[in-house]
Amino acid sequence: IVKFQNIHKSFGDVEVLKGINLDIHPAEKVAVIGPSGSGKTTIIRMLMTLEEPTDGDIIVAGRNLWKMEKKGKTVPANENHLREIRGDIGMVFQHFNLFPHMTILENCMTAPINVKKEPKEEVKKRSIEMLERVGLGDKVDNYPSQLSGGQKQRVAMARALVMRPKIMLFDEVTSALDPELVGEVLNVIRDIAKNDDMAMILVTHEMDFALDIADKVLFLDEGIIAEQGTASEVIEHSENDRLQEFLHRFR
Ligand code: ATP
Repeated sequence: IVKFQNIHKSFGDVEVLKGINLDIHPAEKVAVIGPSGSGKTTIIRMLMTLEEPTDGDIIVAGRNLWKMEKKGKTVPANENHLREIRGDIGMVFQHFNLFPHMTILENCMTAPINVKKEPKEEVKKRSIEMLERVGLGDKVDNYPSQLSGGQKQRVAMARALVMRPKIMLFDEVTSALDPELVGEVLNVIRDIAKNDDMAMILVTHEMDFALDIADKVLFLDEGIIAEQGTASEVIEHSENDRLQEFLHRFR
């Protein structure tokens, strides 16, 4: 469902990604680990169409993300093309980015109604269902400011789920939370991972969590995928020195 073909990304003179090849299947859960600055967030941002690769192709559900065909020629993607593909992708950020002036129900409903032009009643029903699923069925009329960080992050997840994406991206979603709130958010992601058939890509520093839910783990180091395999192969049985050193800091 997602393919990276020899992806390079530079910012000025600095090459941050140096040839990333990736193949993620529908329903696959992939954890991305690696030291600070290794390029994890850049991978996610490219899928969200927030950064364009310097070289290489990204294929999402069979379509080239950054390129399109026009009169038999390959040309850079336009906004319409990007928007269409973005519809397949949901994302949860480290900071929740909820709209403060909307209730949490309205936060969930706004994109399907305004972007996807879906009927309001249907979206409302689905939004309530998703908020119940993340354990916030009793908070639908509250505003974000009335919620804890963990609750806000769970709203962000419900909001992404309401869009019914084929691929969900999670970028260090627990790293801005107080430690006592991390568990409730991980539990919700775990529930989604075990019960939904969408693909998930998670940037995380929670190794036990990755071991529990990931089908595949990628260790990103200095802009390349230095190690990949099942969670157990990468986190428990790798002999890569850099990976060992990294794991030491997080386990
Ligand atoms: P962390 O775990 O700290 O979030 P990361 O692995 O997610 O790190 P990225 O955020 O992808 O790393 O950044 C990789 C490198 O690219 C870093 O050195 C960063 O400074 C650089 N970088 C990212 N975005 C930009 C930008 N817009 N302009 C210039 N440099 C950037």
